[in-house]
Amino acid sequence: MAKQNLLGCTLSELEQLMIDLGEKKFRGGQLFKWLYRDNQYDFELMTDFSKDLRKTLDEKFEFKSLELIHMQESEDGTRKFLFNLHDNLPVETVLIPDFGSERKTVCISSQVGCAVNCSFCATGQMGFSRDLTPGEIIGQLIYLRENFGADAFSNVVMMGMGEPLANFDNVVKAIELMLAPTGMMLSRKKVTVSTSGHSPKIRKLADTGLNICLAISLHAAIQEKRVKIMPIAETFGLEKLMQAIRYYAEKSRTHVMFEYIIFDNFNDTMKDVHALAKLVRGLSCKINLLAYNPVDGLDFQRPSDDKMNWFGGQLAPRVPVVTVRKSRGRDIDAACGQLAAKQRLGKKHNV
Ligand code: SF4
Repeated sequence: MAKQNLLGCTLSELEQLMIDLGEKKFRGGQLFKWLYRDNQYDFELMTDFSKDLRKTLDEKFEFKSLELIHMQESEDGTRKFLFNLHDNLPVETVLIPDFGSERKTVCISSQVGCAVNCSFCATGQMGFSRDLTPGEIIGQLIYLRENFGADAFSNVVMMGMGEPLANFDNVVKAIELMLAPTGMMLSRKKVTVSTSGHSPKIRKLADTGLNICLAISLHAAIQEKRVKIMPIAETFGLEKLMQAIRYYAEKSRTHVMFEYIIFDNFNDTMKDVHALAKLVRGLSCKINLLAYNPVDGLDFQRPSDDKMNWFGGQLAPRVPVVTVRKSRGRDIDAACGQLAAKQRLGKKHNV
């Protein structure tokens, strides 16, 4: 009989599992610590369990992360992992080291493909296949810890394939595993959910009390422009979106991060600077400017470095904090969804 994979199981599920095996409930807590805190996946080595219990666990269960099918490493140290899920669907994860600091950010996926269909995004072009389970979300992190050690990453951003808030329940369950004090023990300040702007779900996330960081993929501060590149803006316009963001910031007492990709000759004028400054007025926030990383087959172009610096320079005195972020992994398929899109189209990877 196939073993049951415990990847993604919560504390209460493991407690119930132990009760079902005729053990005391607290054994579930011990198992939870071994798996998520101590990164010990071999039941035989769980020394506070009896020999019989270890044998039973080994016979019936396993804790298996994801199957890696491809990895690309950039000259700048960024690594991109392509995983194969049990139903042969691809999903990707990007690990971005920050040289000169201990920070290592892992960008994880929450869905295979994405239904939001932003016109500049490789994932959007793939269409939507399905939501990831909590195990498949957390499995991206477990894979890294299993293969690169407990300090494989320091920060987690849900900014990979998919719209995390469209897979709300599974994403929240995965975040609970990341934050659990006897689990992965990540600080709420080191976990970020990035959304394209699903206003009702932003409010719902605020109401969970998880108080994690929130990033908004804004990319245009003028409604008509935003609708052109992000169809979700038709349903959740900028006004509603900003109300939800202010609600989140107040309730979770955290500042919000806005991601603003600059597309050459699209959202890079003085009018855009003014609109952006007006939009975030009075909000404790940070704006990250990022040059577009071109995707095969899409029309958008990368702006020059001068344009990036000009836009950042104009914006800086008008908003609380602005950074011009270097795009990472340009020599690999680093834009979200590029590697998985190639996998689905049967193209060769460039490594
Ligand atoms: S940018 Fe994000 S929300 Fe938009 S299509 Fe790509 S993955 Fe989906």
